Amino acid sequence: MPKFDVCVRGAGAVGSSLALALSRQGLSVALQDTAPEGAAAAQPDLRAYALNAASVALLRELKVWDALPEDARCAVHDMRVQGDDAASVLEFSAWTQGVEALAWIVDAAELQRALASALAFAPHVQRVADGPVDAALLALAEGKSSATREQLGVAMPVQRYGQRAVAARLRSDTAHAGVARQWFRSPDVLALLPFDRPEPQHGYALVWSVPDARADALMDMPVAAFEQALADATHGAAGALTLCSERAAWPLTLARAEPVCGPGWALLGDAAHVVHPLAGQGLNLGLGDVRSLAQVIAEREPWRELGDPRLLQRYARRRAVPTLAMGQFTDGLLQLFASDAPVLRELRNRGLSLVNGLPPLKRLLASFALDS
Ligand SMILES: Cc1cc2nc3c(=O)[nH]c(=O)nc-3n(C[C@H](O)[C@H](O)[C@H](O)COP(=O)(O)OP(=O)(O)OC[C@H]3O[C@@H](n4cnc5c(N)ncnc54)[C@H](O)[C@@H]3O)c2cc1C
Repeated sequence: MPKFDVCVRGAGAVGSSLALALSRQGLSVALQDTAPEGAAAAQPDLRAYALNAASVALLRELKVWDALPEDARCAVHDMRVQGDDAASVLEFSAWTQGVEALAWIVDAAELQRALASALAFAPHVQRVADGPVDAALLALAEGKSSATREQLGVAMPVQRYGQRAVAARLRSDTAHAGVARQWFRSPDVLALLPFDRPEPQHGYALVWSVPDARADALMDMPVAAFEQALADATHGAAGALTLCSERAAWPLTLARAEPVCGPGWALLGDAAHVVHPLAGQGLNLGLGDVRSLAQVIAEREPWRELGDPRLLQRYARRRAVPTLAMGQFTDGLLQLFASDAPVLRELRNRGLSLVNGLPPLKRLLASFALDS
């Protein structure tokens, strides 16, 4: 049986990025995935990820970012968050933040394709079949239902929100101008992420988090009714929106594995933590895991084995605070905006307007999202 330095199990965005990062260090990597290589997905992935500057920098280093088609990545220059009424608004801008962009919206399927192309040229990565592999370190990036995590007996308590995120692609008759829009209206959270497909400046990726029953209704209703529901929810603020894809829905949960490493293994990405997509941070956290693990490995003492628990503990320590903080932040926001109680409603709407008038606090909030 061939021997590898690392076996990466799971070739999603996180596992593929890790394989590329470790290959760049000259380590031999076995990459496994239960889905056959190059197999077409049964359903096109309708998600578009909001990636922060740190994630984009990592993808650039891995030579993936510049390989993405121009219209598959779109810079967000402004962000507008709206509460229950028109007066409660929180606005962020890249210009006042002093950054090139607040985030970049990236087509999920194109990102996966670009990662696969980069892997095809990575000198030290070999796709291997399912089953045991002789490697010093097993990096598990199998996603939220990781079977190997279960076999290892790692606990990952799951909090179900009783909500699903409905995703779709939309076309607007009005240019998006790089503005991302989000509405927090109990119990819905609706995000329109600017995108340049199907037409430059006129596309949006929709992520609409709603209670399960409402998700069923949104998935099943005729196209005209769905577009009317969108118009009602957005009050036409992003122009007249038409549906230009299928609709897909994901159940929403909050979960964190403990521990995230042990002798010879480490968890990364959704296999280690799952957060509500309202802040668009799940993959950003996963790519943060990749950065940290690759860095810890690169900085190890020459005599230290890759599977040494002390080495992997360094990785776990680096990721503990960002992971916990993001879980609490997204959950706190969701709870705050989920209640219809008049007092809470008043409080959160005033809170949005108050934060909007406090540039230092806004800068702090934005930098949290930009760097996590
Ligand atoms: C609607 C929605 C919108 C989102 N928007 C954003 C956003 O804007 N920004 C953001 O940062 N994040 C976002 N996320 C979160 C993001 O989608 C996930 O965090 C990210 O896809 C996780 O990637 P991963 O590689 O860890 O897991 P996955 O993408 O689940 O990949 C896991 C891989 O492992 C493979 N696998 C599974 N089991 C095995 C096994 N036993 N052996 C081998 N291989 C196996 C699978 O085939 C798969 O290829 C969103 C999520 C949702 C649901």
